[in-house]
Amino acid sequence: MTLPSPKANFYADLDANLNGLRTQGLYKQERVISSRQGAEVLCDDGRTLLNLCANNYLGLSGDEKLVQASIDATRQYGYGLSSVRFICGTQTVHKQLEQALSAFLGMEDTVLYAAAFDANGGLFEPLFDEQDAIISDTLNHASIIDGIRLCKANRFRYAHNDMGDLELQLQAAADKRHKVIVTDGVFSMDGTIAQLDKICDLADKYGALVMIDECHASGFMGQTGRGTHEHHHVMGRIDIITGTLGKALGGAMGGFTAARREVIETLRQKSRPYLFSNTLAPSIAGASLSVLNMLLSSTELRDRLHANTAHFRHHITQLGFTIKPGTHPIVPVMLFDAPVAQQFAQRLYALGVLVTGFFYPVVPMGQARVRVQLSAAHTTAQLDQALAAFAQVGRELGLLKNQE
Ligand SMILES: *Cc1c(COP(=O)(O)O)cnc(C)c1O
Repeated sequence: MTLPSPKANFYADLDANLNGLRTQGLYKQERVISSRQGAEVLCDDGRTLLNLCANNYLGLSGDEKLVQASIDATRQYGYGLSSVRFICGTQTVHKQLEQALSAFLGMEDTVLYAAAFDANGGLFEPLFDEQDAIISDTLNHASIIDGIRLCKANRFRYAHNDMGDLELQLQAAADKRHKVIVTDGVFSMDGTIAQLDKICDLADKYGALVMIDECHASGFMGQTGRGTHEHHHVMGRIDIITGTLGKALGGAMGGFTAARREVIETLRQKSRPYLFSNTLAPSIAGASLSVLNMLLSSTELRDRLHANTAHFRHHITQLGFTIKPGTHPIVPVMLFDAPVAQQFAQRLYALGVLVTGFFYPVVPMGQARVRVQLSAAHTTAQLDQALAAFAQVGRELGLLKNQE
């Protein structure tokens, strides 16, 4: 008999863990799309699906003008830089995009990253150390949590969106040198908008900085789409903004941090994902620049997104579904029970509507849901088609409050 080698044990353990995920219903399956991203997508099984689960808020992911802008930038600047920024990876298009983002967000300066995950991962360690305090919402994004882990600052956590607890944590951190409050501008599971007006007041009272992650806000929150700081009328009071180019602002990939000059200069000198990772592809920088120009010339896309959101929120409630109240294009349709949420998403899929079911441990026990995300690319007819599918599945599963 041959004894299993330590290596064989390693692979066997991985398989056992993967099987565990499958039996617990936690295994994530990838759908394969063979078309561009958009309101409708073609899947590799030949079916066309109405897509209600992309972060394609402004509908730009498959937009012809952006495809052309990325081709134009590729022709001018080439395919890539084969370099990090500080060696030979900075082109005029990167500097132009940094300036345009600063102007759009109302901040002094901006530094680009390959992803918002990197922007958050490389933010805290260069700026704060063991003398300082980071005060973070418990539901902040994984990349913020990881970024804070890489930093030696003292960690304080406040209960999600709880301003009373935030104040207690600020008091607990009173003897620390620098203090920074850290929050998602919008939280992705519920579409909850952080109370930035109150957060800025508390920050002023306790001499703290404010950092927000605007991944689910940049491009469409606020009157002209600048973000949650515009929505809450606190532009000029936020110290640090991180965000993505991979959601509303085009949908390719890439991230950024915007702040005062001293912060951005420090990040360019010390932030590890910036120093040790390749520069953003010129095609993305060029196309992102056209996105910002598009948003400056008209709020049409942002306005259509909010009209679509209002339409869907109104009619889904009329049908008798329970949603998390709010105004954000993330609309959690609450089904509470995990198997029901799973079944619901599967039935919608069969009817040609793509949504994601979320259940414990991604959301709290008993809070299972399907999460809908609206897009400016959806037509009213498509939304009504989705609503009809929701109604049908709701009736089939006996879930509608208003059912006669
Ligand atoms: C999506 C997201 C990120 C990561 O963005 P990428 O650019 O895809 O890395 C970070 N923070 C929040 C809140 C997000 O929703």
